[in-house]
Parts: sequence; structure tokens; C-alpha cells
Amino acid sequence: MKNRCDGCGAKIQMTDPKKIGYIRSEVYYKNPDNFLCERCHNLKHYNKFTDVTIDERKFYSNIEKIAKTDALIVYMVDGLDLEGTLVDDINKLFPYNKIMMVINKFDLFLSSTKPSKVKNYIQNILKEKNIKVSSLNLISAKNEKDVFKIYKEIMRLKGENDVYVFGMTNVGKSSLINELIKVNTNIVGEITTSNMPSTTLDIIKVSLPDKTYLYDMPGIINKHQVTYYLTKETLNKVLPKKYIKPKTFQLNPKQTLFIGGFAYFNFLDGERASFVTNFSNEIIIHRTKLERSEEFFEKHKDDMLILPIESEREKMGKLVRHKFIVDGNKEISISGLGFVAIHGKLVVEVVTYENIKVSMREALI
Ligand code: GDP
Repeated sequence: MKNRCDGCGAKIQMTDPKKIGYIRSEVYYKNPDNFLCERCHNLKHYNKFTDVTIDERKFYSNIEKIAKTDALIVYMVDGLDLEGTLVDDINKLFPYNKIMMVINKFDLFLSSTKPSKVKNYIQNILKEKNIKVSSLNLISAKNEKDVFKIYKEIMRLKGENDVYVFGMTNVGKSSLINELIKVNTNIVGEITTSNMPSTTLDIIKVSLPDKTYLYDMPGIINKHQVTYYLTKETLNKVLPKKYIKPKTFQLNPKQTLFIGGFAYFNFLDGERASFVTNFSNEIIIHRTKLERSEEFFEKHKDDMLILPIESEREKMGKLVRHKFIVDGNKEISISGLGFVAIHGKLVVEVVTYENIKVSMREALI
């Protein structure tokens, strides 16, 4: 009889439905060699999420154990949310392990984006942050060829060692592993994926053809990302499923651009400039006069700008202002949501919730 869920790897228990690994005893004893915990069962069959908490202490003690081995770390980030998903202290967590970096979700980039440009850009960030990796890979976990390439690179770098897939929640770790299983029938296992942060609860093990293992680790929860605060319904709308069609706006000073009710960009000073928004098509982008922006937000946050909904807004905290001086081609990203590319010489103020990270970078696209 097995004692771990086939979906998330959590150790099963039959006492507390609110804790991870819960399964009703009659369900378990019906088929004790092949089962999913209640949470994974609901996710898989009804796409329903049950909220549970991860034991953070256990998570870090797992990391310490892995850092003592020669395992290969597959370190995944979300290409569309680099600032939000980079783990700055990856080399401190795994000082002696080989680190293979995987930048995922490349399919969501404009098709004209050159991979070499993105890679160069990332190499510069890594240098700046003094992050050292053994290999840099730009992929889409939804692209079979990319997944096969990743499989070959993993096998090349791992030697005789195990592999751990590591990164923030929602970067696509479980998706990549599921696809790895599909491209290579010698890899055995199946993992539950969903939009909800922290789907993978405990370390889950997949066996590789050379009798070593690949493990999916629970994602680090990133409280600076919008996604952390959203309900499943909203997440389904704001997480892009296909490449995002950018929208271009020519703005004059003293105008404001609303990104749904998530944020607004106040053009404070400068010359007419172009703002190109890159967000899910479900998010309403609307232009108003700067002097009306606060009033407009208050008036329309529950109708025209709907998303996020009131309970989500409350969790994200009060509205705060971030001022940026743009000179040239820049992108201002709202962690977990998307970004605005701005071209010109201007001062812009981004108004958004205090828990959400906003940052400016050199234009990538
Ligand atoms: P995890 O928390 O890191 O394990 O992330 P998941 O694998 O559960 O993926 C989170 C969300 O991102 C899901 O909605 C996936 O379908 C989606 N996703 C994962 N990889 C890709 C990708 O390469 N491209 C796109 N467009 N979506 C992806």
C-alpha cells in the first residue's frame, strides 16, 4: 500500500480535510495502490481548488537536504514575469549544486521576439545580481520540441545524480514535468497542475530511465505577485493562455491609462509618448484625463474596471504610488500580470496596491 498521493506527492492522512494529503478512508481502502488525495482529485476532475497551507519549515529543511547532495537543480522562472519570479538567493540556497536555468512561457512572447535577445537580457540580469548558472534555456513547456531539448539538457548535466525542479509558484514546473513524461514514455508519473499558486504540495518523484529520480518541489509562494491574491475565476481570466496581443496608445502628458482595476499609469510630465500594454485581453485598458483618475477609479472599480474584485483588492492592500523616469525604451512590469512598454522621455507614476511589486527594466521586446 502506498502512503503518498499520486498527484501532489503529499503524505496522506484521513483526519483533517483542511490539511494536505487528506483522503476519505473509504476512498483510500477501495484502491490503496492508485489514488489521489481529495484536493488533487477535485483539481483533476472538477478543476476545484481546496486551500491548504504548506509547512514552510519543512520546505526549507528539504532544501538544506538537497543542497548536501550533488543533485542538478532545474531552476525555472516565468519569462513574462522575470522580476517577479527570479529567486535572487538561488546560489545561497544551493551553493554547490549545478543549476540549470529554464525561462518558461516563451510562447506568450510576440512571435518576432528573438530568443538571443531575451537570453542576453537575462544574462545581464544574472550578472548584475551575481547569480551563477550552468546553463540557460528559453522554452515553452507547451512546445514538444522545447521539452525534448530540456530533457536532453537535463540528462547531459545531471550525470548520475537526481534532479530537482525548483522555482516560484505558477512558473510552470508541474507543466514541464507532465510534458517530460509525455515526450519520454520511459519516465513514469503524473502530476496535477492548476492555475492556483502552490499546487505542488510536497516533493513528488518521477523516475528517470537511468534509475535516478526527478523531483518536483513545492513552489515558493511569491506574495509580491498579483496572482497570489486572486481567486480561481479571476486567475483563469488574467493568466494569458495564448500570446498576448499588445495594444498601443499614444498618450499626452496629464493623461492616465487604466490596467483594469489593477493599476493605473499617470503620465505626469514629458512629451507625447507611446504606451504599449501587454496584458491578458480580459483586462480592460482605458484612457482618461489625469485630473479625473482617482475619481474614475473610485467610480468604476466595481463595474467597468472590474477585476480584481473587491475581496481581492482588499487583500492586495492600499493603493500606493511609484514614480519612474523613462528615457528611451523601457518596460514597467506589474508582477504576475504583465507590463507596459513605454517609449519616450517622461515621468510616469504607477498607482497600484502596496503588496504588488512594480519594476522598470530595459525594453525586452
Ligand atoms: P507550477 O506552480 O510552477 O507547478 O506551475 P504550473 O505548471 O501549475 O503552471 C501554472 C500555469 O501556467 C498553468 O495555468 C499552466 O497551464 C501555465 N503554463 C505553464 N507553462 C506554460 C507555458 O510554457 N506557456 C503558457 N502559455 N502557459 C504555461
